[in-house]
Amino acid sequence: MASESVQIAKKTPYRFKRYYVYLAVTIMALAIPFIRINGNHIFLLSFDKKQLHLMGIAFDMQELYMMPFLLMLLFLGIFAATAIGGRAWCGWACPQTIFRVVYRDLIESTLLKLKRIKNKQKEPDYSKAENASKKIVGVILWAILALFAAADFMWYFVPPEDFFSYIQNPSEHMFLIGIVLSIAAFLVYDVVKLKEDFCVYVCPYSRVQSVLYDDNTLQAIYSTNRGGNIYNESKEKIIFKEKDLPDPANECTTCESCVTVCPTHIDIRKGLQLECINCLECVDACTSVMGKLGKESLVQWTSTNSIKNNIPTKVVRKSTVMYSIALLIVIGLLFVMGGEKEYMLLNINKTTQLYQVKKDHLVTNNFIFLFQNTDSKRHKYALEIVDNKNIFIERFHPFSLGAGKLAKKVVILGTKADLVDDNTKDTPITVTIRAYAQDEPDRVQVFRKAVFIYPREDVLRKKEAILNK
Ligand code: SF4
Ligand code: SF4
Repeated sequence: MASESVQIAKKTPYRFKRYYVYLAVTIMALAIPFIRINGNHIFLLSFDKKQLHLMGIAFDMQELYMMPFLLMLLFLGIFAATAIGGRAWCGWACPQTIFRVVYRDLIESTLLKLKRIKNKQKEPDYSKAENASKKIVGVILWAILALFAAADFMWYFVPPEDFFSYIQNPSEHMFLIGIVLSIAAFLVYDVVKLKEDFCVYVCPYSRVQSVLYDDNTLQAIYSTNRGGNIYNESKEKIIFKEKDLPDPANECTTCESCVTVCPTHIDIRKGLQLECINCLECVDACTSVMGKLGKESLVQWTSTNSIKNNIPTKVVRKSTVMYSIALLIVIGLLFVMGGEKEYMLLNINKTTQLYQVKKDHLVTNNFIFLFQNTDSKRHKYALEIVDNKNIFIERFHPFSLGAGKLAKKVVILGTKADLVDDNTKDTPITVTIRAYAQDEPDRVQVFRKAVFIYPREDVLRKKEAILNK
């Protein structure tokens, strides 16, 4: 028993594991806006440049067919993660939880000694001048960090290279500065005043998570089998002292360590509650209490099946298999869509004049070509007709266009051949036009259809006769 006790006491608390994950998440959140692949960001939604950057590929606003797949990926990912790990996101990676841990556990408890990490229920006496001034220092420290967090958030919408140049001219970018200050002000209010009420009352995720749970979902659970029922079926507390536990074998000491440590002020012994953010502080607290008695924690991060029904947790089950298949399909579609990205856009519109008949049996059609360079560098564009040897480009000169720029060009297509012999109507002939960058013809190219109108035979002859007079 003694060796078991030592082994149990040596377990690294979840709190420290969470701190490492928080550090990794914070470094990632700060680093991602600065990482560029081929000049594009890993993730950027720029309203300024009307672009979405994803894994180093820039998509124009006209190409936002990716968005539904990204949203599907987000929601399916959340559903799958919740079915397997409960509110693991809340406890291990949510910015709100990280911000609260920084303010409450690092600034208030560790640096300023205003509170104790192990007792989150007890508020300091702010009528004492020392506590009140510590509180002000804490809010100022957090406000500085909140400004960094707000700037970091903005870098996903205004890339850092633009952001730092904009803030050097504050008078010209008051809107941007106003948004950063507003986000920072909200973060101060949220973290200092709203606290975990944000998770309980504001965040919609807490409302939906319970419907995604099943008996194999991992969560913080109190073992009523070992500890005893502290609450009755109507969720009323019926046990306050250890001596009142129904069975002498019940192990809960009623020390309430798991309750006082809880940031959302709930008692995990009541069962699953939507307020629980899966931070596992109660698991650490009971591990410490029970460890001293040489026993396993009564509150564990495990599944209902494992702790109550003595059945091993099934990670591979119908719901997780279905989520995994759906996720793989969406990821596959994202790659296919990403691979089909066009590095230039081209819209072709016909002018109102159907056709012109000119000398030497030449028939022409005028078109307006709208080019957009959606690549990250300048290209020189050219055109060719790929599927009709009798129709040629009568007027168009290759031209150069900078990254992200638009250009409108009048393009004239012509033919000298007798394409059709119809005395009853004009004939539409569909041709495929390839537009490409002369410097990278294979990567930067698009194919578009244009409709060439060939005049009815009698009209053509009449017009040619007039021209030849
Ligand atoms: S009951 Fe409280 S302490 Fe335990 S995991 Fe949930 S939120 Fe954290
Ligand atoms: S920390 Fe453990 S022993 Fe103490 S009240 Fe909670 S469940 Fe019971």
